[in-house]
Amino acid sequence: MMSKALYTTLGPLGREALGMILPHEHVYVDLRTPDQPGYASGRAADVVALMAPEIERIKALGITALVECTTGGVGRRADFDLAVSQATAFPIVVPTGNYREPWIPEWVKTASEAELEKWMLRELTERFDEADYKAGWIKLSAGDEGITPLEAKILRAAVRAAIPTGAVIGSHTIKGRVVMDQLDIIEAEGGDASRFISIHTQAEKDFSLNLAVAERGAWIEYDNIGWVDDGELLPLILKVLEAGRGGQLLLSHDMGWYDPALPGGGTARPYTALSESLLPKLRAVGVSEAEITGLTRDNPFEAFARPL
Ligand SMILES: [Zn+2]
Repeated sequence: MMSKALYTTLGPLGREALGMILPHEHVYVDLRTPDQPGYASGRAADVVALMAPEIERIKALGITALVECTTGGVGRRADFDLAVSQATAFPIVVPTGNYREPWIPEWVKTASEAELEKWMLRELTERFDEADYKAGWIKLSAGDEGITPLEAKILRAAVRAAIPTGAVIGSHTIKGRVVMDQLDIIEAEGGDASRFISIHTQAEKDFSLNLAVAERGAWIEYDNIGWVDDGELLPLILKVLEAGRGGQLLLSHDMGWYDPALPGGGTARPYTALSESLLPKLRAVGVSEAEITGLTRDNPFEAFARPL
């Protein structure tokens, strides 16, 4: 019997149903702010036309699910994720929550913490506003130099929605010291650091802070595979493994996506460099198959799965 599952576009999936999972990608993103004309617009058929071939490419490489990291304020369209998913028979895990300033829509600015908590809970346990399936997790963000009061309100609401659902909270946060501040807020609210993902951990160049975040129990994520030379990421990954924190490391590309601000949604960037380039290099320097299975299959499942 499944005790916990990834909550996907195609329903909850247990560990047995899943192989490799990409924990940070995008199918659709709109980085214009929510007050701009045309924000989060487009047609599902056009998103499918651009992105379904990219999904087919990773299916052929043995990837069995991906996590959509586009949240509220940067063009979340749970209906478009569902359309791509149905066209490819491929599960996608979609977040509730909202991005940092200035990508915060008016209603989130004025909502109380309790109202935001209720909204996230409804999306996690009932359905999205725009599509009939449940959110898999909570994605938010903090300012590069520090968390603003509005971002802290969203984080506190997220912690309260995360506690009863077991949902993981992931945050786009550039500096390790700001992640530490977020962990302080989470713990002060009674939340669990082990249900937090420090997204873009590689942006903090002080490796000791990468480890310090892991030592507090949180997940760390190197998610720029394919954007930088493998030679940049390989030593970081090996240092995390040597420090005994391989069980808290997530690896992904942060690639994709249909961008409605560009003609035809722009050009899709493939989600393939992990399988085609980085994993062979990890094997070549002696990382075991068991460790690779841990990094690519067990870790993303454990990070994103929540109780049924
Ligand atoms: Zn991203």
